[in-house]
Amino acid sequence: AAAAAPPHVAMLVTPGMGHLIPLAELAKRLARRHGAAATLLTFASAASATQRAFLASLPPAVTSLALPPVDLSDLPRGAAIETLMSEECARSVPALTDILRDLRRRTRLVAFVADLFGADSFDAARAAGVARLYLFFPSNLHALTLFLHLPELDAAVPGEFRDLAEPLRLPGCVPIPGPDVLMPLQDKSNPCYRWMVHHGAKYREADAILVNSFDAAEPGPAKILRQPAPGRPAVFPVGPLIQADRGGSDGPCPCLEWLDRQPARSVIFVSFGSGGALPAEQMRELALGLELSGQRFLWVVRSPSDEGAVNDNYYDAESKKDPFAYLPEGFVDRTRDVGLVVPSWAPQIKVLAHGATGGFLTHCGWNSVLESLVYGVPMVAWPLYAEQRQNAVMLSEGVGAAIRVPESKGREKIAAAVREVMEGEGRGATVRAKVAELQKAAAEGLQEGGAAAAALAEVVEKWTCEEN
Ligand code: UDP
Repeated sequence: AAAAAPPHVAMLVTPGMGHLIPLAELAKRLARRHGAAATLLTFASAASATQRAFLASLPPAVTSLALPPVDLSDLPRGAAIETLMSEECARSVPALTDILRDLRRRTRLVAFVADLFGADSFDAARAAGVARLYLFFPSNLHALTLFLHLPELDAAVPGEFRDLAEPLRLPGCVPIPGPDVLMPLQDKSNPCYRWMVHHGAKYREADAILVNSFDAAEPGPAKILRQPAPGRPAVFPVGPLIQADRGGSDGPCPCLEWLDRQPARSVIFVSFGSGGALPAEQMRELALGLELSGQRFLWVVRSPSDEGAVNDNYYDAESKKDPFAYLPEGFVDRTRDVGLVVPSWAPQIKVLAHGATGGFLTHCGWNSVLESLVYGVPMVAWPLYAEQRQNAVMLSEGVGAAIRVPESKGREKIAAAVREVMEGEGRGATVRAKVAELQKAAAEGLQEGGAAAAALAEVVEKWTCEEN
């Protein structure tokens, strides 16, 4: 296409709103700041009503296109979600190749961007003759460092990570105790493990990697990854990319109305992301712990995870059973004046942005962490799956933006962690000060001339100036 056409970027999004939202945010930024257009390519399996509504709300410069469905019926029941996404991507390569060829004909396609479980699509982009292959890593620099080291760790760690005698030490990173290392690596007999090693190797084929993080949140690996290294793609921290708060257009929300009536910074928001659920026993201890803490709380409850995987709800955020049935007897009545319990879903960004919110008990999904930092909300870490346990380690032991609930998950320990983050004078005060500092750093980075904005400008420069 003619050079006068806007530069066009194709982005492949693996399933999950947690992958789609930051990539869409990247696309919007490319459109707004750099006059680019983007096509988001989505998988057939991810076509939920939530996703459709989200895609429909994007500006005209950001369009979307769904890949045709592929047959996954041969995969065993209970295959890990990371395996499903990886298989779907690998099996979509032929269709994707055609789509990218067509996009090249119709637009000035300057780059292809795949996300973390989509690296096999590089084969399609190469076959279609796309000039530049980029990876968008929606998690953090610690997790990226781990992925990039997986091929060699696979050879160097013979047993299971959870049995490591010493924490895993990677360049610049907070040491991660074996059991806290990325969940899909914790069982080497599961095909998911092989997929992760495969992706780690495949990432090296990228021309560069964009990461949804920022230096102040993880200065150690930022310093290392910002240095060029032979055999490793350049790394650009372009975060935090979070969904912009679109204001009050969604109609009345009981959570926000309730927050309006609470004192400033007095409420702890409790949520485990789009798919997280707790075992029934932990759900009970959490209820009693919140009550014991004496703090005000807003809790998004889901039915317990006992009858399925912890990420049971990943593709469908609606709780399947009535979650209130699992709360301790009389809990809702006893806490009526200080707490609000809502089923399944809350407008998290609006809650975190609300002046009454003073803390966030979170599963440490990376989007949730970034949202908390952007709005300056200190965290209580209660990780569940994916890379959440290592996120909890880097936040609590590393930068100091969270206090982690001890593994035993007893009500007293939960209450103590909540109280400390909300009003403690020791660690709590340090965490609150650190989060205020990170909030400022995040905002500065995204401003014109800030580190994240400069990183993205440099990327666009590469896409458009070295055009061939
Ligand atoms: N989210 C929300 N309301 C909820 C739960 C989640 O708006 O009740 C949003 C949250 O703001 C975040 C995303 O869903 O943007 C969750 O992403 P994250 O990476 O934290 O966790 P995941 O859902 O991938 O485990």
